[in-house]
Amino acid sequence: MAEFNVDLFVIGGGSGGVRAARIAAGHGARVMLAEEYRMGGTCVIRGCVPKKLLVYASHIHHEIGDAAGFGWTIPSATFDWPTLIANKDKEIARLEAAYTSNVEKSGARIVKTRAAFEDPHTLRLATGEAVRARYVLVATGGAPNHGLAIAGIEHVISSNEVFHLNALPKRIVIQGGGYIALEFACIFAGFGSDVTLIYRGENILRGFDDDVRSHVRAEMEKEGISIITGTTVDKVEKHGKEFTTHLSNGSSIASDQVMFAIGRHPNVANLGLEKAGVAINPNNGGIAVDGFSRTSVPHIYEPDAGRDPRGSRVCRYGVWQAAGRSRPCQYSDRGVFPTRDRYGRTDGGAGARAIQPRRHLQG
Ligand SMILES: Cc1cc2nc3c(=O)[nH]c(=O)nc-3n(C[C@H](O)[C@H](O)[C@H](O)COP(=O)(O)OP(=O)(O)OC[C@H]3O[C@@H](n4cnc5c(N)ncnc54)[C@H](O)[C@@H]3O)c2cc1C
Repeated sequence: MAEFNVDLFVIGGGSGGVRAARIAAGHGARVMLAEEYRMGGTCVIRGCVPKKLLVYASHIHHEIGDAAGFGWTIPSATFDWPTLIANKDKEIARLEAAYTSNVEKSGARIVKTRAAFEDPHTLRLATGEAVRARYVLVATGGAPNHGLAIAGIEHVISSNEVFHLNALPKRIVIQGGGYIALEFACIFAGFGSDVTLIYRGENILRGFDDDVRSHVRAEMEKEGISIITGTTVDKVEKHGKEFTTHLSNGSSIASDQVMFAIGRHPNVANLGLEKAGVAINPNNGGIAVDGFSRTSVPHIYEPDAGRDPRGSRVCRYGVWQAAGRSRPCQYSDRGVFPTRDRYGRTDGGAGARAIQPRRHLQG
């Protein structure tokens, strides 16, 4: 159709957008993908993958601890956070380049800029260019949500900042009871930090099987993590380099960092969804979709990636449509937890397969 510059326009170069762009381009569709930050999105740049590297690094002290029983004599080990972070950054840059090159090899064009709807078929790029698209996939993912604007919220970091700390905090307070909060609590405890986890509910991992919840909690407590439930953070104060976290139970905790991992909100602000006529789901503030990941506007889709807390799911229906084929909706489930051995679950995550930490994480 001559009136369209592309068959499929993908907003967002994360797990959902990259997969969709590659499949559609591979089937001959003219595809353009806009990414405003870094190719790979949350999972590769500041989610699953860097987190797994930190998890692997934090497990090593257990192996060192067990080594003597297996006949090894290891001289006193030391750990250097800046080295880990620098090597993690190198690995993430390598993956970002691989994601970029794979999308380009598929024939899709990447534009490193922000995109927003001008009308249902027109995308306006921050560069000023307007692109007319037959189909659009809004794969803009989510962002950390800090909750209520409590006093001192500006001192609180999220999973975005935690991967870039200059120093390993000796003491950290983490608010949250979901998998991201728990994983970071275990990571920091593994590095020897003094960790306090604060959660408002009566037990962590809401929505999981009760036996799993109690087991994980008991194992974390055995690792020395202090878990305070039925409590929230009311206020955070900064004094020099130290923070005081005031809790709703009246107590307070001193630490070197305070992190919140209390949820994520859909990244839909200023996307021009109203100009495109795309309806919002009043329950979560994200885009309303049907069972085929189709929005209220038939040629605009949104992948399920990120909404399911257990992992990313990418519906290929719109992708097949853009490629001029008709296929029923197919979901591909991705990885679940990075905590391989300790909690008895196996990680099938994309990140775990994509990286070989022993090979790539070398100084
Ligand atoms: C700390 C953490 C750990 C995680 N661990 C796991 C795990 O172990 N296993 C697992 O399965 N999942 C994990 N996840 C979830 C996983 O990262 C998400 O499910 C996945 O990244 C969602 O993919 P997406 O493509 O929908 O969005 P994203 O990956 O967030 O990609 C969206 C992209 O869109 C870009 N963007 C947004 N708006 C615009 C715009 N207007 N124009 C251009 N670009 C735009 C953003 O910059 C971003 O790159 C984790 C998440 C976090 C935060």
